[in-house]
Amino acid sequence: MSFRRLTIAASCVVTLTACASSGAAPVTTQAPAPVVAAPTRPRPYPVTEPVPFRRAVDAGTRTRTGEPGPKYWQQWSKYNLAAEYEPTTGKLTGTGTVTYFNRSPRPLGVVQVHLYHNLFSNEAVRVEAVPLTGGVTVTQVTVNGTEVPKAGGGQRGYRINGTIMSIPMPAPIAPGDSTTLGFAWSLTVPPEGAPRGGRTDELAYISYWYPQVAVYDDVNGWQVDQYTGNAEFYMGYGDYDVAFTVPAGYLVGATGRLMNGGEVLSKQTQERLARAGTTDSVVRVVTEADRGAGKATAAGGKLTWRFQAKNVRDVAWGVSDKYAWDATRAVVGDRDGNGSVDTAAIYTFYVPGVPNSKWAEDARYARHSIEFLSNYLWPYPYPHMTAMQGPRSCGGMEYPMMTCLGGTQPDSFSLYGVTVHEIAHMWYPMQVGSDEKRHAWQDEGLTEFNGTQGENDFFPNRDAEAQDLQIYKQVAMSGMEEPLMRHGDRYDTGTGYGIASYMKPTTILITLRGMLGEEQFLKAYRAYGRRWLYKHPTPTDFFNTWENVTGQDLDWFWRSWFWETWTLDQAVKTVTPDASGTTIVIEDLGFTPMPSTVKVTRADSSSSTHQVPVNHWLAGNTTYSFTVGAGSPVARVQIDHDGYLPDVSTKNNGWVGQ
Ligand SMILES: [Zn+2]
Repeated sequence: MSFRRLTIAASCVVTLTACASSGAAPVTTQAPAPVVAAPTRPRPYPVTEPVPFRRAVDAGTRTRTGEPGPKYWQQWSKYNLAAEYEPTTGKLTGTGTVTYFNRSPRPLGVVQVHLYHNLFSNEAVRVEAVPLTGGVTVTQVTVNGTEVPKAGGGQRGYRINGTIMSIPMPAPIAPGDSTTLGFAWSLTVPPEGAPRGGRTDELAYISYWYPQVAVYDDVNGWQVDQYTGNAEFYMGYGDYDVAFTVPAGYLVGATGRLMNGGEVLSKQTQERLARAGTTDSVVRVVTEADRGAGKATAAGGKLTWRFQAKNVRDVAWGVSDKYAWDATRAVVGDRDGNGSVDTAAIYTFYVPGVPNSKWAEDARYARHSIEFLSNYLWPYPYPHMTAMQGPRSCGGMEYPMMTCLGGTQPDSFSLYGVTVHEIAHMWYPMQVGSDEKRHAWQDEGLTEFNGTQGENDFFPNRDAEAQDLQIYKQVAMSGMEEPLMRHGDRYDTGTGYGIASYMKPTTILITLRGMLGEEQFLKAYRAYGRRWLYKHPTPTDFFNTWENVTGQDLDWFWRSWFWETWTLDQAVKTVTPDASGTTIVIEDLGFTPMPSTVKVTRADSSSSTHQVPVNHWLAGNTTYSFTVGAGSPVARVQIDHDGYLPDVSTKNNGWVGQ
């Protein structure tokens, strides 16, 4: 999801004067709380391994190197789903089966299933207001073809608690065995105002629309945290076969490969789409003039669109008879290792004809995003990437191969920014499937950082990293910061959640890059992603990978930046010349210990750099002094002359002689 541009009112983050929209108390930057030197400083104690993680190490499913263990396992599902959507009423009716494979070493007597749409039921526990639609009506549940009743009156059966459905198994699913669950259900796609999807008069973006088996993992077992609107998701991997029935004339974009384009698309649309796969220019596949049954799509009453997706964690779809459809292709590198370059289709679906809309540019933006990130991280693995316009309240949201981008986005920077951010999510969490609910930074933070890399490449005159750094510092100084290591539904304010999940982790990665150097940074950063492709890494796996790849004990770094809201503020305290040289004292006014480099420039323009080791601060000191020899007078002293440290007060980082 996008935060910087959409969730918080700009005034809230940038000036910190009005945070009403995020539920936060208004604060002002006029008088930030001073960071006062303490007589002693807190010392970051080591990161302790969570007990469930230690048990997983003992069981051989995790390691202390950050790699998955030799006995790593995870569950698997095969979904076969069909849904019909009625645009005039917003009603969706669905049926389908999920074959659930128990690859764990334990028999499972119950299967837990998400009914995310119950967020919109009257009874749901929510952390934010949403339109109420009644949630999901479950009309049938079966296990291996036998109907399971709803529990009640002493009868054993399935139970629904908020957004979680628990289905008892007639006999536990043995390790290595599978079971097939069947469902029939209906729901109303919520109107504008719903998070992450919904419908308007012109379009519907349909997300979280089917019963989805919850994750049962090797560290924590079943993860059945309720969906309450803010904290996002934790999803398992599987193959999907889906069929969407809509009136002819409505275009459907979805996760997965369209399997029956010959049946549902008009000849003209098929031909243009085929051409888009062979050219680097943008092909207008369906324009405003081409819309409708028999023109954009095949003729008829209703059409059923079939999609297949392999090894994904979800399927979303968008539908509209107003969409224009642009297509091109992106070069993603050699993803299958056969020595030749591969491509992915790039699609955009949007409502055309809106004054000042930049959507007609978005195929180019999406292509750049995919090509840039394929190079920066690793090749994009899916057959297409679709940037799709959704209701305004969608903000920016990611689904496998799909984005939901709210509104018309009249400005190139904001449209590119939200496009690259949501597309960056195709790596985290789509391919690297962490628990977004409990550790939002693990996908949002890495995604925000990756998005800023794309923005800086596409707009070389803008500095997206500096923008995030600035927002982090403002919030850090306001006292509204909350720690990263917190469940996404347990933040006091939207600002606290946003900074901890987006800008601060971006800042941390910039700091790590400065500290380790670009080469070591990229080596460890990519290793983490590649080690956990299509798996479920925990924060411990993230920390362990960095230490394993760089060979450094970084516990002090993780503890200070991820668990605490300490700030960094080093200052040049005194510069004192005497006969034998000049003594320079660096004072640490903040709590966060960081190594730094101090550059000393003399009047004759010669210069030298001096390392302030982190161990000096870790020993509890608050000042560090060093002497440079006599010679040309010292003219300038500068801490962090490369400028990568998130020092909350840079005014005291330099000293200039008279
Ligand atoms: Zn995001």
